[in-house]
Amino acid sequence: CTAERMAMTRLTIDLDAIVRNYRCIIALAPGSAVAAVVKADAYGLGAGRVTAALADAGCAHFFVAHLSEVAAVRDAARGAPVYVLNGLAAGAEADCVALGAIPVLNSLVQVAAWRAQGQRLPAILQVDSGMQRLGLSPQEVEALIAAPELLGDIDLRYVMSHLACADEPELAANRWQRDRFAAICAQLPPVPRSFANSGGAFLGTDYHFDLLRPGIALYGGQPRPDVVMEPVVTLTAAIIQTRIVPAGAGIGYGLTAASNTDRIIATIGIGYADGWPRRLGGRGSAFLDGQRVPIVGRVSMDSLLIDVSAVAEAARQPGAPVELLGPHQTVDAVARDADTISYEILTQLGQRYARHYV
Ligand code: PLP
Repeated sequence: CTAERMAMTRLTIDLDAIVRNYRCIIALAPGSAVAAVVKADAYGLGAGRVTAALADAGCAHFFVAHLSEVAAVRDAARGAPVYVLNGLAAGAEADCVALGAIPVLNSLVQVAAWRAQGQRLPAILQVDSGMQRLGLSPQEVEALIAAPELLGDIDLRYVMSHLACADEPELAANRWQRDRFAAICAQLPPVPRSFANSGGAFLGTDYHFDLLRPGIALYGGQPRPDVVMEPVVTLTAAIIQTRIVPAGAGIGYGLTAASNTDRIIATIGIGYADGWPRRLGGRGSAFLDGQRVPIVGRVSMDSLLIDVSAVAEAARQPGAPVELLGPHQTVDAVARDADTISYEILTQLGQRYARHYV
């Protein structure tokens, strides 16, 4: 129906491409298991569908950030463990048990709280190997090495840590963190180890340990500047209206971006409330009929303006789909224009309009 087509903003997610990206990481790390990080609704792409596709492809470990994210993943995970990266909030222990989630214990207080549940329960122990974000501090690690009985009968599945600079492979901090993690693990009870995110997967096998935890690479983002994954998302928004804007007239909020020539401006149905960054006004691009068209003026809440003067008339009619992400424009290209990272672009998308899975 024409009305539907004109209103259409469409996010298409290629689940097979996610699975191929997953297999690419597996191929890099033949001696290790590869989990999937599906926190933040699988980076905005839909945790249930993404988890199911990856579980069907053999993925047997899933990570979320918050306990509230477990429910969306658990059934789709086909019985595979779901780990909670942000740990065990005080008072949430019984919920964690009831949900069958496995917490990442980030402090000795959390270790004690988990033990206090009075049954043998699984957990991951995180140690801080230098990022200063989450995990046991060096002092807590010392205390645990001196008294491993602090773990009680917790069923410790992994010891893990997280790389701070994996997207900058040339930095010595990577090797330093890796060596530090290995040294800590050597003094703790001998359980499997988990260390590498997407960037870490590409640092080499000595960063892989037993379980990798990629996220962004599965979703088509570049884990580092020189590594390109298969694109996963296509985002299009339809032209709502076009108009001839005379030379000298400003456009949109603030009447900015006046030009000294007449031009044809199209309004498309996506704005910052749809997750398209306001920062892209005047500096981002879209593609119409395969041609680059600049985003001009300020991005509104529900719409934005593109200059389509150079596009053939037949291709710039109301209803025509404008590509924001897809074969011509990667999520990393958009992130660069918006001065941010692909993670932020992806996680803002898809809340307000239909997602389509292929
Ligand atoms: N492991 C932890 C602890 C994380 O916080 C994240 C994401 O931020 C990941 C793994 C996945 O990282 P990436 O998306 O860079 O692969």
